Amino acid sequence: MDFSRPRPQVSGDVPSLKVTDITCRVLLAPDYDASMTSSAQDSVVVMIETDGGITGIGETDANPWMVKACIEAPGTHTMGLSLRHMVIGANPFDIPEIWEKMYLGSAMNGRRGMVIHAMGAIEMALWDICGKALGQPVHQLLGGAQRDYIVPYASLQPAGSSFAEYRDALVRSALDAKALGFRAMKTEVTMNGPYAHCGMNESYDRHTKVVAAVREAIGPDIELLVDVQYLWEDADTCLSVIGDWTDFNLYFVETPLWPDNIEEHARLAERSPIPIASGEWLSTRFEFRELIERGRIGVAQPDVGRVGGIGEAKVVCDMAGEHGLPIVPHCWKTGISISATAHLAFVVPHCAFIEYLPPRLCVERLRRELAHEELVFEDGRILLPTKPGLGVELNQEAMDAYTVA
Ligand SMILES: [Mg+2]
Repeated sequence: MDFSRPRPQVSGDVPSLKVTDITCRVLLAPDYDASMTSSAQDSVVVMIETDGGITGIGETDANPWMVKACIEAPGTHTMGLSLRHMVIGANPFDIPEIWEKMYLGSAMNGRRGMVIHAMGAIEMALWDICGKALGQPVHQLLGGAQRDYIVPYASLQPAGSSFAEYRDALVRSALDAKALGFRAMKTEVTMNGPYAHCGMNESYDRHTKVVAAVREAIGPDIELLVDVQYLWEDADTCLSVIGDWTDFNLYFVETPLWPDNIEEHARLAERSPIPIASGEWLSTRFEFRELIERGRIGVAQPDVGRVGGIGEAKVVCDMAGEHGLPIVPHCWKTGISISATAHLAFVVPHCAFIEYLPPRLCVERLRRELAHEELVFEDGRILLPTKPGLGVELNQEAMDAYTVA
């Protein structure tokens, strides 16, 4: 299997274009609540301009000020070059070369984490430019759609401050999603704090009760995914709880363990009755290789921006496919990232679901208002996008209203 990064597929001559500028807009909802576990209250929109008058847009799910700094910081030596300067002057169709150049040129500061997340937004914007230049959707440039539709899952939205309120809000949200035609949904179960580890509460009965209540509400025919958000420190404790969840017929349990805890992932893989999903925070194929080959996860969840862009996400999808793993990408940002994720999913046959909520269901206003992606959601499916590039239109009013000076 060739894990080389995909290059935009062009029939005929590659258009002669040059990147002339990169700008980053930091966006923040004025009423953001820092106690919420939601990164959809802020965003960074990366805009790449070309001499052909085409502008590409990209986004990544990471602290927007940090992303902006990673892109705009001047280079000071050969092992720490400026991302922005490395891209200006390049032909946007040279996506694999540009990525490699950024990866090597920023090596001392980057290779993983925030610099890769920032590179992901740049790379996404380059695909958008190429699609717009050729008048073709990004999935076309990725080799063409492998399917007529993809299946989104709804992330159910919790609320309330007591156990009963939390459980009932998720049940209500599940029924709303079912009424909209969703064929898959994901409930979170994080009553003891989203990233708290075990020992924080006396019993996990209530976690089981939430999953049971949601399954009962939606009936047996809808795929149910569960996200426990790094709840446990070891495989044994995890198994003592999810061992009782087999009757709920779950598609996966997401992030039961800390992603760097590879040994416990491997132990869990030996005995878990339910596939384990992970990878939402990872950057590059190299981190995924560790989690897939040594940690033996059951479902890989690259976030397109964070992992390093559409091409790097595609490499991760190929690698997962080699190991027989389905893909369920993470995506909790605005329509820009949602669209990039959808285009990727159309060229990855083993992408089981994508994370998606129609804008009207989103609690976060930035997410609702910032970008209109053209995705058509019908009968529980997303239909093939046809507009050039990512097919995303920014709402300039929202851009201006939410831009942080
Ligand atoms: Mg998650």
